[in-house]
Amino acid sequence: MKYQKLVDVYEAIAATTKRLEKTAILAEFFKEVDEETLPEVVLMSLGTVFPPWSEEEQGLADKLLMKAIANVVGVSVSNVEDQVREQGDIGGAAEKLYNKKAQTTFFSKPLEIDFVFTNLRKLAKISGDRSTSRKIAIVLELLSSATGTEAKYIARTIIEELRIGVGEGIVRDAISQAFDVEKSIADRAHMLTNDLGLVARVAKEEGEEGLKKLNLSPGKPVKPMLAQLSDGIEVSIEEMGEAICETKYDGIRTQIHKKGDEINLFTRRLENISKAIPEMINYIRNAFPDEDFIAEGEIIATKDNKPISFQYMLQRVRRKYNIEKAIEDVPLKLYLFDLLYFKKPMIDEPLAMRRKALEEIVDTSSEQINLSTMLKARPENIQDAEDLFNESIAEGHEGIMIKNPKEPYIPGIRGKKMLKFKAEPETLDVVVVGGTYGVGKRANFIGSYKVALQDDNEQLKTVAHVATGLDDETLAELTELMNKYKIVSKGTKIEVEPRIILEIAYSEIVKSPEYEAGYSLRFPVVKRIREDKGLRDIDTVDRLKSMFKG
Ligand code: AMP
Repeated sequence: MKYQKLVDVYEAIAATTKRLEKTAILAEFFKEVDEETLPEVVLMSLGTVFPPWSEEEQGLADKLLMKAIANVVGVSVSNVEDQVREQGDIGGAAEKLYNKKAQTTFFSKPLEIDFVFTNLRKLAKISGDRSTSRKIAIVLELLSSATGTEAKYIARTIIEELRIGVGEGIVRDAISQAFDVEKSIADRAHMLTNDLGLVARVAKEEGEEGLKKLNLSPGKPVKPMLAQLSDGIEVSIEEMGEAICETKYDGIRTQIHKKGDEINLFTRRLENISKAIPEMINYIRNAFPDEDFIAEGEIIATKDNKPISFQYMLQRVRRKYNIEKAIEDVPLKLYLFDLLYFKKPMIDEPLAMRRKALEEIVDTSSEQINLSTMLKARPENIQDAEDLFNESIAEGHEGIMIKNPKEPYIPGIRGKKMLKFKAEPETLDVVVVGGTYGVGKRANFIGSYKVALQDDNEQLKTVAHVATGLDDETLAELTELMNKYKIVSKGTKIEVEPRIILEIAYSEIVKSPEYEAGYSLRFPVVKRIREDKGLRDIDTVDRLKSMFKG
């Protein structure tokens, strides 16, 4: 199938802001695509050629992409840079430059979807000697056969930013519409496999029955079940009747997958972090039986055996070099709290059973591998839960989790099955969409950050400007990131791609017509950069509304 067809679909989707229309356009297209191409088209409609948990990425710097564009249209790189500033993104710039170019006809065949997909995938596989020039050669081959609009979307797929307002939710709904399968069934299949390409293909070939057979399998991460806020220890336990209360550790949620001999660790964003913390793999190997399994826990950084700031954990995960030294400097501990697969999928079992099975199989004799501290609480012994909370805080942890022991594990859901109760007032996770350079001493730093939440349609809505809470080092780091993701600048203001997630605290939620969310925050303060979270983890306007006290 011709790439131009897909590009026409992108354009039609980009032309409407209505979620239902976007879904319908995509659904019609999915129906037309054959089985082999469908998984490719599904990934490409999300602006990528890899499933979210894949370790592979295209790894082509923006500069190189601009160089390739310059080369194909016969202008200088600085010309391309100017266009990027004007258009707001590399894809838009490419299209503009192509259209300006004298009508040259290349004697090339029109691009096929599969050809574009396969070549973009190749980019990730290239490493070592002359990798840059080999990558450029691939991009040049694609771009020189492309029309202006095709070039726009090839560039955007390379930087994984399609800008057509389509997220996983719309793609999933389009699959269910195209192949007439129940949304909830498509959703569950997606949560369990995290592979919308596969979900689409099975939906097309085998319908609902096929989708129901998809299950989680070691090696492929599932979206973690998320926690809601508890209104208080007592009310939450009373509501549940009986609860499992556990220390809430402040580290990185980790899903551990063992398949055959291989152990992999994934974050809540399904990033594979195994290489950065190899010692953990060894500890885990020694503590579990030699069976396939999926378990979950929180990995924290420690010093003298005590928990230390979550930022150290992030540093460990980010680290690419000198890992040996980091292992020595920042020792890690794992606190296990769930078992999703052991010889067979276990997510439909109640939590109490999963926990029991976990306790039976894990050897916790080493210092590094632990089970989360837990107790069973009922309305009669609330005091025990409160004591656990106080002890957890005294030991330097965040608070407690209050979980319903009767509930199954539902991937990707933020429900009442698992609650969190923290010592600190609640914070919001927001994404940075713009910023303003400071004045005087801080003229080189972006001092104020425009941040946004997401609405039901996965559209971003601005909610505040946050300017406090950052030390100089973090300001410098953030400024660098902002420049990397810059789309346009005007005077001291810049706009950026929505990539940087901040956790912010505030004193109060107020109504505000100035921001797209319709609400804003008083005295917002940055608590930290949340590199472990992605765009889809940010908080929603709905949550903000529900927290508004009026
Ligand atoms: P939050 O990140 O504030 O939404 O809080 C929920 C997170 O707490 C989970 O995603 C885990 O990363 C973390 N966590 C820490 N300790 C536990 C525990 N014992 N059980 C479940 N989650 C925990």
